[in-house]
Amino acid sequence: MVASMCEMREQAREEQGWEKRDPERYDIDGIVRDAWINGNGSDEVWKAAVEKHFKRFMVGDWVRITVDVEDGLTEHHYGPIENFRKPDGNFYRRNVAKPYAAFVHPEHTRSHVVPLADLVEEINDFEITTEWSEVHEGGPKHNYGVYHCTGAHGPYPPPAKVMVIHKVSGRKKRFCDDCNTADYRSRFADEALMFQRNAKRTILELRANPSLIAGPAADPGRSWDEMPADEYRSWADAFPWLVPAAAAAAYTEWRDQCTAVAA
Ligand SMILES: [Zn+2]
Repeated sequence: MVASMCEMREQAREEQGWEKRDPERYDIDGIVRDAWINGNGSDEVWKAAVEKHFKRFMVGDWVRITVDVEDGLTEHHYGPIENFRKPDGNFYRRNVAKPYAAFVHPEHTRSHVVPLADLVEEINDFEITTEWSEVHEGGPKHNYGVYHCTGAHGPYPPPAKVMVIHKVSGRKKRFCDDCNTADYRSRFADEALMFQRNAKRTILELRANPSLIAGPAADPGRSWDEMPADEYRSWADAFPWLVPAAAAAAYTEWRDQCTAVAA
């Protein structure tokens, strides 16, 4: 007996449910066609069809783009996908299984049409832990060791339930479940972007001359324009993720020498 297309769709959706996948993210007709109409329906063929017809991005998904700014610096910008575009930048007239590019409008930059291949899922930029002992490690004594959510709550924020770690910077923020959204996580990543923008001059100085970081401590005779090496070093301690690679290496070498001298 041949099942109708509707029955096969229904069955395919059920199978997706069993595998705890979101059927919305799959082209069900494509899976049915490849696995059961053109294919023999074996596990192997099913799996291949499911992988092939996975929609990595959908309208509304938050994504990160990497934008080249002046002076050879790059920035991370976040925003939801507003629609999909053709290679020439125009709209598709109908839904397509494999769109080429997405239109995104991040808050901190102009709008972009970006090939899907260059998009990163927003969630990939964060590590999230829900383990209470980790979330509240070193929590404030005056609040029984419990951190509050740092989302928008006014004067009575609930206890934090998750800790979000921004992978690039290593910075941590605590949220309740309601505030652990793409929007709030992106704003948190934007804080790191603002630190980067504010430190632009220091980054460029250290990029041009990495040995600045390994110089002597403050010299009373120095000119007022120069930043003493120990100020570069304390900046590097506060923002290790912003230190250019060559300067980071020079700093490590300087530290090792000091340790050797002290020993
Ligand atoms: Zn909250």
